[in-house]
Formats: sequence, structure tokens, C-alpha cells
Amino acid sequence: MNTSVKKFINHVKQKNKGEKEFIQSVAEVSESVIPYIASHTKYDQTKILERMIEPERVIMFRVPWLNDQGEVEVNRGYRVQMNSAIGPYKGGLRFSPTVNLSILKFLAFEQVFKNSLTGLPLGAGKGGADFDPRGRSDNEVMKFCQSFMTELHKHVGEDMDIPAGDIGVGKREIGYLFGQYKRIKGEFTGVITGKGSEWGGSHIRPEATGYGLVYFVEEILKKHNKSLKGKKIAVSGAGNVAQYAAEKCIEQGAKVITLSDSKGTVYNPKGISVEELEFIKDLKNKRGELKDFAKKYAYDFLEGEKPWGIKCDIALPNATQNELNEEDAQKLVENDCFCVAEGANMPCTPEAIAIFNEYNVFYAPGKAANAGGVAVSGLEMSQNSLRYSWTRNEVDSKLRQIMQEIHQICVKYGKEKDYINYEKGANVGGFVRIADAMLAQGLV
Ligand code: NDP
Repeated sequence: MNTSVKKFINHVKQKNKGEKEFIQSVAEVSESVIPYIASHTKYDQTKILERMIEPERVIMFRVPWLNDQGEVEVNRGYRVQMNSAIGPYKGGLRFSPTVNLSILKFLAFEQVFKNSLTGLPLGAGKGGADFDPRGRSDNEVMKFCQSFMTELHKHVGEDMDIPAGDIGVGKREIGYLFGQYKRIKGEFTGVITGKGSEWGGSHIRPEATGYGLVYFVEEILKKHNKSLKGKKIAVSGAGNVAQYAAEKCIEQGAKVITLSDSKGTVYNPKGISVEELEFIKDLKNKRGELKDFAKKYAYDFLEGEKPWGIKCDIALPNATQNELNEEDAQKLVENDCFCVAEGANMPCTPEAIAIFNEYNVFYAPGKAANAGGVAVSGLEMSQNSLRYSWTRNEVDSKLRQIMQEIHQICVKYGKEKDYINYEKGANVGGFVRIADAMLAQGLV
């Protein structure tokens, strides 16, 4: 690590004490962006990166609600409005007991670069609450969402800040949040994305992150004269991103040999079939566990284990941050895995990424590889403004094109002498568009 990067990260640590995920994400970006800034005078001297790491605004609020027993419960809600240089704030809401300011700031910071890479007019934000929808009745989830939106509506709007889903916030939660916004404001606007397709949502939005991830992997493989056909894919997670990444991999002739959830990993060496995947989608929609799928189909269930010890060609970590560490990376390399693409946000630790770089594993960071979700959210916003709806095929081909363009940006900014550094490409490519917009807008 060069000395100006070290100095910058020390400054970030001082200013953001205890925010380990946020510091980790800033450090990852700084290593590629600071050397770039140093060689481009227009970004040097203007403290662009110092400005980018400060959220424009952080909103933190109380969410009181009544549970089914008539008792009062209190959660903490957040919205981090990170950067509006290229458009209104845009990014998901996460409902999970693990939510805290550090995690939301890291997600919002990643979102700045990701949204920039899509080429769409999308600023960046992230939000959520330390509420766990798992094990709650529909009525309790609705009560919570209504209370959450009763405060959040003051800070969002179709031209100001447009939230979406993330972990713990799916179609059900989006419906309750949108319904409460509409009641309070008395207007039907595209204030949230991920809506049902009958009430303002876009075709392909549920599939977009997973499909987009696979389109990005296909671009990497094409560039290196390879294809997905017959490849063994280890997927982690069994939620929205994992399900549709698995679906697209199977469609393209690959074998999805694992899926996982917070209880463990299911392993089928022959590859999970389309019918089995439909069963899993249904099971997860009903908030069931993968263990039950493994039992029904008599597959191995590796209790408490992650998929990374299983021999595969390509790994798609699609569950959560820091789920793939140095030891996991070492096992993947030993098993000849040649490509790791992040469907989740920051699933690989810095030590794991270092191993991928050392062994020339193609490593695609989430801010590029999982940008398909927010890209189609951007397309949902366009359709809402137009009061129009594009067909499934139209949205899918726009998604594919956006993923191809993101790949081209990564190649342009990440090209080294004899390989493509996708991490650097995504960081620098995302940075340039934001930095230029900030410079054009004066001291913002
Ligand atoms: P979901 O809530 O639909 O699914 C998350 C999955 O990950 C579940 O299967 C869950 O298991 C599993 N999981 C969560 N925490 C852990 C853990 N600590 N260890 C093992 N497994 C875990 O979320 P999404 O699929 O929407 O999101 C997954 C990731 O993708 C997140 O990082 C998110 O930020 C990122 N992402 C999502 C986008 C989207 O469009 N949805 C867009 C871009 C990024 P269980 O079922 O047991 O809870």
C-alpha cells in the first residue's frame, strides 16, 4: 500500500471510529482511486475523494410499532443520502438485526460507484432498520413498514430519493412501504422501485441482479475465449440474487452445484434442476429453509458450512458482506476455481481478494457485477415517469446492454499489461463520472 493511501485510510479511521465495514469499503476503493487521482491534476487539490466519503446527509429515526400481542416495539431506522452528483439518491433498504450505521454507510458508498457505472442518472443512498422480518406475521411486518414510512416519507420522493429492496425487504415489504407513502402524500409516483408489475413495477426487476451478474460473467468469459457451458458454479445464498443467478446459469448450460442459506449449504454434484430451483423459490417465499429442500430431494446438506470448500469452476457469492474469507479463497484456488463474481455487496474480504489477484483468478467486484438490479430500478423510474411499461424482452435486452457497457468501462480503466484488473476498472471507472459531475457543480 503506498504512503498516501495509508495516510488517507488513517484519516478515515480517525473520523469514523468503529465503522469497520465502511472503513473496509473506503480502503478498497482508495487503493485504486488515489494513485489515479495523483496522476490527474484536475482531481488532485480539490479533495474530491474526501468529499465523496462524507455522506451528504444521514437521517436516523425512531420506529415505534405494535406487535401481535399488543406490545410496543421500538426499532431504529436510517437513510444515508450519500451522493446526488449525477441524480436523485437511489439505493435499497435493508431490514436485518445486523443493520447499523457502518454497514449502511459502506453500502451507500459502494452504491455511488455502482450507480455511476450503470451510465444512468442515479445518485446513491442506502437505508434500513435493525428490524428482523423473519418469524414475524404479515400484520407485524405491515405495522412496522407503516411506522417506518411515516417518518421516511419526509425525506424521499421521486425526484429526491428513491429507495428499493435489499436483504429482508422484498415485494411484500415494498408493497406496504409504497402503500403508506401513497396514503400520506396522496400521490401515486415512482417513489420506490421493486413494485409489483401490476402497480408500477418493471418487468425483470426481481430477476435483474442475478441475471445481470451472469451477463457480466459471460462478458468476462467471452473476453478470455471461454463460455459458461458445462461449467460448475458454486452459488451462495438462496434469496433474490442467488435464485435468479442460478436460474440464468442453468439456462446458459452451466451446472449450479450449491446454494446456501444462514443454516448451511446444499450440494448436488450433478447440478440443481429448473424444477428444483422453482421448489426452492417457493420454499424461500414462504420463508422456509434449504435444509427442507435437501431432505425432500435427498441431497447433502452441509450444516453450518459455506459452499467454498466444494470443487467448482466459478464462484458466485450472493449472500452477504464478508462471507468469503482468506481461507475460503485459498480453498477455491486449490480447487482450480478461475472466476469469482460478487452478486452480494462486498462478500469477499480484502485478504480473499489478494489471493484471487495473486493466483490470477478473474475477480469481478459487486459494484460492477451486481449493478443490474439498480440498473433495472433506474429503468423502472424511467417507465414511471413516462407512465409507460416496456416488455420483458425490452427490459432484458437493455439490462444485457448495460452489463456489457459496465464490462467495457472495467476493461478501459482496469487494463494492465497482461491482464484486466476488474476491481481497479470498476473503482476508477465509477469514480471519474462522479468526480467530473462534482467538479462541474462547484464546491459541493
Ligand atoms: P435476500 O434477503 O433475498 O437473500 C439473502 C440470502 O443470503 C438468504 O438466503 C439468507 O439466508 C442468506 N444470508 C444472509 N445472511 C447470511 C449469513 N450471514 N450467512 C449465510 N447466509 C446468509 O437478499 P438479496 O438476495 O436481495 O441480497 C443478497 C446480497 O445481494 C446482499 O449483499 C445485497 O446487498 C446484495 N444485492 C442485492 C440486490 C437486489 O437487487 N436484491 C442488488 C445488489 C446487491 P436465510 O434465507 O437463511 O436468511
